[in-house]
Amino acid sequence: MNIPLMRIPPKECPFCHDMPILAKDPLWDGGHGYYGNYEYYIACKNGKCKINPRTKSYNDIYEMSEQECIEKVIEEWNMR
Ligand SMILES: [Zn+2]
Repeated sequence: MNIPLMRIPPKECPFCHDMPILAKDPLWDGGHGYYGNYEYYIACKNGKCKINPRTKSYNDIYEMSEQECIEKVIEEWNMR
């Protein structure tokens, strides 16, 4: 699931200069895992990008809120 980018937009991909996506993926799989919790990461999804960088995931079990996950993941992506 891709979610709309909020007030801190991520920078373009440093390798292909495309805009990355902010992904929100459920942490449960067929009833196993952390139902109701999500992980967030930013990745370049340009098929022509040779590197396809992505950040590590932040999840809303350890972070306080979705907003906090999103801010952290954007901050990490934007750190060059
Ligand atoms: Zn790229």
